Amino acid sequence: MLSILFLILISCLFAVHLNKVLHKNFLKLKNNYNSLFASYENLRDENAESERDNLILENTAVETMALYDITKEICKYLDEDKIFACFKEVLSKHIRVSDCRFLKADANLENYSDYLIMPFRLKSESHPVGYLAASGIEKEEKDKFSILANQFILGIKKAMLYKRVQELAITDSLTGIFSRRYYLERFQEELERSKKFGYNFAFLMIDIDNFKDYNDRFGHLVGDTILRELAKILKENIRQIDLIGRYGGEEFSIIFTETGKQEAAFVAERIREAVENKSIRAYDEDLKVTISIGISIYPADAQETGQLIEKADEALYRAKLTGKNKVCIYEG
Ligand code: GH3
Ligand code: MG
Ligand code: MG
Repeated sequence: MLSILFLILISCLFAVHLNKVLHKNFLKLKNNYNSLFASYENLRDENAESERDNLILENTAVETMALYDITKEICKYLDEDKIFACFKEVLSKHIRVSDCRFLKADANLENYSDYLIMPFRLKSESHPVGYLAASGIEKEEKDKFSILANQFILGIKKAMLYKRVQELAITDSLTGIFSRRYYLERFQEELERSKKFGYNFAFLMIDIDNFKDYNDRFGHLVGDTILRELAKILKENIRQIDLIGRYGGEEFSIIFTETGKQEAAFVAERIREAVENKSIRAYDEDLKVTISIGISIYPADAQETGQLIEKADEALYRAKLTGKNKVCIYEG
């Protein structure tokens, strides 16, 4: 009997111990499961996050490619209309737009009330020099559109600034006619063209008579106005195919292309008269000026630009010496 009781006791003790061990293992397992589940959830979150990142990266890559495409295409051109045509083409590949227009500075924006308008300026505070107008863009694509449009605007600005720099180098800022440097380049070109085709041409040096007196009496601002107005008169009295440049301070030069001695003398005299007869309004003054002109002829007087200049100068000097307000032709 005692041994049976002992056995029961031993069994109970073993059962309690087993229960404890099992419970401990169960707790361990449960913990392991919990941490595994937590890791799984973490992984799932991380996966979702990386999927989101991937999507963002993908979108950024598409936008970057679009930007790259647009920038690459636009950089090929310096002509505003070509830049716009190219922008429109690349834009249509990336965004749905019903209408897109490149408007000049004087456009009436009231006609585009349902358009998205982006003005662009050459300097931040200045007036817009044009507008990019687009309609029918989906709300979620507006950001993308403005990124692409900014590339277009940069391209247009580059073209506009390039044009301005070109004009500055080519034209004289006071009179708007060719600068000396550019005029001399064109002179050389004209000489080569005439040589090739066997044409003649006349080279004129023009100098205002007693110009210093005008400056002394009325001031330099009036002097500048005279120079500007004189350039206008000269331009009005030559043909489109002739060349005109500001040679120096108050000296101008003209090339009558494909023109011989007699004709050159005749036209130069007509120009001299036109200047003499014109009253120039400068501030409060109505002024009259006169000019002297010296002429040399290619190829009769010289075959190089330097010599043609020298000979026209010689003729001009003679005009000054013999009374001014006259035309003199180089006499060998
Ligand atoms: P001449 O009949 O012998 O040519 O006499 P002139 O007084 O015209 O001759 P000169 O060459 O001695 O003087 C030219 C003057 O032109 C001197 C200079 O002050 C002036 N001048 C040169 N460039 C400019 C300019 O850009 N603006 C103004 N206002 N004056 C200028
Ligand atoms: Mg002079
Ligand atoms: Mg002079």
